[in-house]
Amino acid sequence: MLVRTCHPSAQSKGGNRTKIQEPGSNMSIHYCKKCDTEIYVPALSAEDMKIILGYIADKSLLRVVQFLKEDKQLTLKEGKLIVDHLCELGKKCNRCDYDQLKEEFEVCPKCKSFNISWR
Ligand SMILES: [Zn+2]
Ligand SMILES: [Zn+2]
Repeated sequence: MLVRTCHPSAQSKGGNRTKIQEPGSNMSIHYCKKCDTEIYVPALSAEDMKIILGYIADKSLLRVVQFLKEDKQLTLKEGKLIVDHLCELGKKCNRCDYDQLKEEFEVCPKCKSFNISWR
């Protein structure tokens, strides 16, 4: 007797792959006009944020990159991109002297650089 283990309802057709996302994770993808590049920002828990803000306060940006790489499975390049786009003390643009940024993710109206404000 033949027992079929192959499930007929298994779908092989995709076509819905606009975002690279793992189940349970909530990666947001942003675009920086200034660098002409996409920036992948992983979802961070309050605990993650505490750790990252601690490194930022210590000016240990390399450790932020390492944390994103080891804990959030980003590549080194993706981690560096995030660090490059952090704005100073959560308010000043990372590229120019514009200092009216208010959102967590915001494009600077002055120089069009993408800013990540973690505080
Ligand atoms: Zn940029
Ligand atoms: Zn700017």
